[in-house]
Amino acid sequence: MTDFTCVTDDEGVATITWDVPGRSMNVLSLAGLDQLDALVTAALTDPAVRGIVITSGKADFAAGMDLNVIARMKEMGGDAPAAAVFDGVMRMHGVLRRIELAGMDPKTKKGGKPIVAALPGTALGIGLELPLACHRILAADNPRAKIGLPEIMVGIFPGAGGTTRLVRKLGAMGAAPFLLEGKLVPPKEARASGLIDEVVPQDELLARARAWVLAAKPADLVKPWDDKGYRMPGGTPYHPAGFMTFVGASAMVMGRTMGVYPAARDLLAAVYEGALVPFDTALRIEARHFTRVLLHPSSGAMIRSLFQNKEALEKGANRPALPNQPVRRLGVLGAGMMGAGIAHVAAQAGIPVVLIDATQDAADRGRAQVGAQLDKAVQRRKLTAEARDETLARITPTTDYAALAGCDLIVEAVFEDPAVKAQVTARAEAAAPGAVFATNTSTLPIADLAQASQRPEGFIGIHFFSPVDRMMLVEIIRGPRTGDLAVARALDFVRQLRKTPIVVNDARFFYANRCIIPYLNEGIRLLGEGVAPALIENAARMLGLPLGPLQLVDETSIDLGVRIARATRAAMGAAYPDGAVDRVILRMAELGRLGRKAGAGFYAYDAAGKRLGLWPGLAAEWPVAAAQPDLTTVQHRLLLVQVLEAVRALEQGVLTDIREGDVGAILGWGFCPWSGGPFGWLDMVGTAQAVAWADALAAQHGARFAAPDLLRQMAARGETFYGRFAPPARVA
Ligand code: NAD
Repeated sequence: MTDFTCVTDDEGVATITWDVPGRSMNVLSLAGLDQLDALVTAALTDPAVRGIVITSGKADFAAGMDLNVIARMKEMGGDAPAAAVFDGVMRMHGVLRRIELAGMDPKTKKGGKPIVAALPGTALGIGLELPLACHRILAADNPRAKIGLPEIMVGIFPGAGGTTRLVRKLGAMGAAPFLLEGKLVPPKEARASGLIDEVVPQDELLARARAWVLAAKPADLVKPWDDKGYRMPGGTPYHPAGFMTFVGASAMVMGRTMGVYPAARDLLAAVYEGALVPFDTALRIEARHFTRVLLHPSSGAMIRSLFQNKEALEKGANRPALPNQPVRRLGVLGAGMMGAGIAHVAAQAGIPVVLIDATQDAADRGRAQVGAQLDKAVQRRKLTAEARDETLARITPTTDYAALAGCDLIVEAVFEDPAVKAQVTARAEAAAPGAVFATNTSTLPIADLAQASQRPEGFIGIHFFSPVDRMMLVEIIRGPRTGDLAVARALDFVRQLRKTPIVVNDARFFYANRCIIPYLNEGIRLLGEGVAPALIENAARMLGLPLGPLQLVDETSIDLGVRIARATRAAMGAAYPDGAVDRVILRMAELGRLGRKAGAGFYAYDAAGKRLGLWPGLAAEWPVAAAQPDLTTVQHRLLLVQVLEAVRALEQGVLTDIREGDVGAILGWGFCPWSGGPFGWLDMVGTAQAVAWADALAAQHGARFAAPDLLRQMAARGETFYGRFAPPARVA
C-alpha cells in the first residue's frame, strides 16, 4: 500500500492521488515524498503523458507534514543533526522544484508538462506548499475547508519553499498574515487573497483540473519568479516601498513576540535575505533558517505540547475505557457571565440547552447575551444569520427545574457560594436523575461541594475559563468520589465543544488557578517591595506571557483577589503566607481601584475603558526603590513561582500527566508557549539549573521558592521530566 498512486487516462492526463492508508487525513512522510517524486518523474518522462493532476483520495487534501519526520531526520544525522536536517529539507526542495519546472528547458522555458493541484478540502502546511509549487491551484467550493500555513503556531515556519514562494507570489505584505500569524481561510477567501487560483463546484473539481491541463500553454507553466524581469510585489528590501514594509514588519514581529519565538525572527530573516537573491538561492537560505529553527529546543517543545500532546489529550489519552457518552441535552444553572458562555458554546456545538436562573428575567438576559455575541459574529461574517438563529433556538431560558428532565449533563455556574451551590445541586439532581452533575467553581474544593449531592460518583468539576467562547482549555476535576462515567461524559462533552481537556485531581485551586495566583501575587509583592511597575510588567511580557501580572489582576478584578485572599486565609490560618500581597490589594480596594471593570486599577483607563498606561499614583503608594533588581531576577521570580507550583501539583498527584500540565498552562493562562509549558521549560534549562535558581531565590525571598523534593531528586539524578514521566507511546 502506498501513499500516492497514479492513473493515466486516454487523453494523457496522469492523476496522482494522495491517500495515506489507515489515516483520516493525509500527512507527508519521507516515504510518501519519495513515492510522489517517483510518480512525478515517471509521468514527466512518459511520452504518453501530457500533464498531471495532483489530488487527494480523501475529503481533504492534506493536514501537513508528519511532524515525526523532523525527529527522524535529526536522529538519522547522529552527531551532525543540523547537516542531516538541512539535507532532508533540501531534498524536499528538490522534489518540489522538479514539479515546478516540470521538465522544461531551463533556457527557453519550453517543453514542460502542466501540473495542477486539485484540492477537495482542507490544505494545510505542506498540503499548501506542494500546490504552491504546481502551475495552478484549484479548490473545491467547500466552505468547511481551511487553507493556509499554520506552522508558526507550533514554533516553526513553512520550510518546504512555502515561505519563499508565497512572498514572491503575494509580496511580503500580502504574505504576512499567512506566514506570521498562520491565518487559515476557506477557499473563496484563499482565492480572493491570491493564495490559490480558482474555486470550482465540488463535483467538477477533477474535470476542471483535467481541462486546464489539456488547455495549458507553455507560458502558463512559467512561474513569475522564473520569468525574465520578475519584480516582487510591493518591492524588495532596497526598494523604497519594500523598505517600509520590512522596517515595519521587523518592528511588528519584535513587538508581538518580544523576541522569544525564534521561528518568527528566522522566518523574517529568510524572507528578507531571500528577497535579495535569485529563487534557488532563496530556497537554500530558507532551508538554513528552517534548519536552525528545527534544531532550536523551543520548536521541539512547542511541537510536543501544542501539537502532539494537545492532540493526544483531545483524543482521550486519559479517558476511562467506557462507551461513548455524548451529551444530547445540557442543563446550565446560572445564566450569568459563565453560564451564558457555556450555553453559547454548547448550542453552537448543536446541543439543546436548558438555561436556568433564579428569575425568568435573569435567564432571558443570559440568552440575550448569547444572542449579542452571535450578532457580532454575523456582522464580522464569521457566521450566517441562519446559523445564528438555529444556535439561539437551541437555548431555552427558564426558571423551571422540571425542564431539566432528560439532560445527560448539568453544569452549575451560580454564585461562588457553597450554600447557593448546595441548594441548586439538590434541586437539579431531583429533576434529572440520570444526569452527571458538574460544577464550574473556580475555587471551592469538589469534595466539599459534593456533600450536597445524592450521587457523589456522578459529581464532577468542569472548569471553564473566561471568556468561554475563546478560551480553549477546560479543566476537569475528579473529586475523591467521582466515578469513571462522570469523567468520560465530561471528556466527551469537551470533545463535542472542540476544546482541549485536562483531568486533574481535587485540591485547592485545582491546577491552573493554583499556578496563576502565585504569579499574580509575585507581581504584587514586587510592587510592594518598590520594584518599578514597568519593570515588573515588561519582565513578564519579555518572557512571552500575554499579560503582565498587574494587568492580569486588573482584568480579573481586585475584589476577586480580596475575596480569594480572605477565603484562603480562613482556610490556612497561621500558615497563610501572603500578608505582603494583601496589604497592596486591600489598599487598592480602599482606593476604589478595583481593576478594569471599575475603570481604575494598577492601570489608568479613559472614560471608554481603554487602558492608558500604568497608574501614575502607584509611585505615591509604593515608592520606587533607588536600587532596582535586574531584569533576569524579576523574570526568574515571575517564572519560577509558577513552575515550582506546577511541580508541586505533580508531586502531590493533582496532575497525573505532565502533558496535561504543559498543555493546560499554555492554553489556560498563556504560560510562555515558546517553552512548551512549565515541564518543557524545566527540561530545557535542566532540573539542576532550576534547583540552583530556586535555592538562590528561596534564600532571599522565602519558602515559596523552596525546590520541591521531586525536583531536587531529579536534579541529583540528572533526570528530565519527559524522560521520567512521558507516557509510553500508544500503538495507533
Ligand atoms: P455571575 O455572577 O455572572 O453569574 C451567576 C449567575 O447565577 C447569576 O445570573 C445569578 O442570577 C445566578 N444565580 C444565583 N443564584 C442562583 C440560584 N439559586 N439559582 C439559579 N441561578 C442563580 O458569575 P460568573 O462569573 O458567571 O461565575 C459563576 C461561577 O463560575 C462561579 O462559581 C465562579 O467561581 C465560576 N467561574 C467564574 C469565572 C470568571 O472568570 N468569572 C471563571 C471560571 C469559573
